[in-house]
Amino acid sequence: MPLSAEQLAEIEEQRAQTQPTRRVVAPGMEEHLYTAHPVLDHGFVRVIDYMGDDAAICQAARVSYGKGTKSVQNDEGLIRYLMRHWHSTPFEMCEVKLHVKLPVFVARQWIRHRTANVNEYSARYSILDREFYIPAPDQLAAQSAVNNQGRGEALQGEEAARVLDILKADSARCYDNYEAMISQDGQQGLARELARMNLPANIYTQWYWKVDLHNLFHFLRLRADPHAQYEIRVYAEAMCKIVADWVPFAYKAFEDYRLGAVNLSAQMVEALRRMLKGEAVTQETSGMTAREWREFESVIGHT
Ligand SMILES: Cc1cc2nc3c(=O)[nH]c(=O)nc-3n(C[C@H](O)[C@H](O)[C@H](O)COP(=O)(O)OP(=O)(O)OC[C@H]3O[C@@H](n4cnc5c(N)ncnc54)[C@H](O)[C@@H]3O)c2cc1C
Repeated sequence: MPLSAEQLAEIEEQRAQTQPTRRVVAPGMEEHLYTAHPVLDHGFVRVIDYMGDDAAICQAARVSYGKGTKSVQNDEGLIRYLMRHWHSTPFEMCEVKLHVKLPVFVARQWIRHRTANVNEYSARYSILDREFYIPAPDQLAAQSAVNNQGRGEALQGEEAARVLDILKADSARCYDNYEAMISQDGQQGLARELARMNLPANIYTQWYWKVDLHNLFHFLRLRADPHAQYEIRVYAEAMCKIVADWVPFAYKAFEDYRLGAVNLSAQMVEALRRMLKGEAVTQETSGMTAREWREFESVIGHT
């Protein structure tokens, strides 16, 4: 259960309040406002605020193109054109503010995306909760044999049980020591800003994360990708569903031209052209390295 009864009541209260507004609202996003979507064992992502919709993207684009957009009357067509041609600034006209609860080791990956505004829970000021990410058995995987930066098959039997025990016991022991060190019961009590350094990276933190749609798509492109670590990917996937409801035309264009698309190098395009003409191109005659050739083959489904 990622949220306490008190937090759930607060969310219900926020959701019950409505106000008349002259501002643009996106009906799909209104449904998401404040609701916490559970991610991992204690995490969540929820929308706190947003600005703009599909029409706001078009409105901004039409300012820059003026009469030029007359030929693209339809909003969806215009959005797809913008996405296809990397005309990105109109997407920056939409913004979203999220409240995210996530393990610290996921936060370290997430914070690398510098184009957002972040305000994190202060473990100098407040006491962290006793909440640790413990992977589900199917995610308790072995080191990948083919990818140094990935995982392979799930651990089995006694090894899986032993690893789970270690993760749980270490988390509990570190938290017990954290509490013991900050306690002011019969002692001075260590400062919270110091005591936290002994906590493991699977403890949860929280932040508000505000980003524009263009940079959010960049984040989702990288983190909803199968190469991203599972623990951040599940957040990205939850966010994809929210964005699909918020700006359905923009999200569809993102799916088609970014998420499901691939980049081909000049050599790959050339090899493809030669193949389409019936030539038997090999790695040796393609000008690609063995690794590039493998990547190319996986893209075109060639074996
Ligand atoms: C699968 C995967 C594996 C990764 N592995 C590693 C790893 O092993 N080690 C590691 O350190 N990182 C790793 N990263 C992080 C990665 O290198 C990027 O730091 C991260 O994805 C953020 O991307 P970004 O800089 O494009 O995003 P943002 O910070 O959101 O920036 C968006 C864009 O803005 C521009 N920009 C922003 N700030 C600057 C700046 N200061 N200077 C110039 N241009 C800027 C760039 O064009 C950038 O692409 C990995 C990421 C992924 C997805």
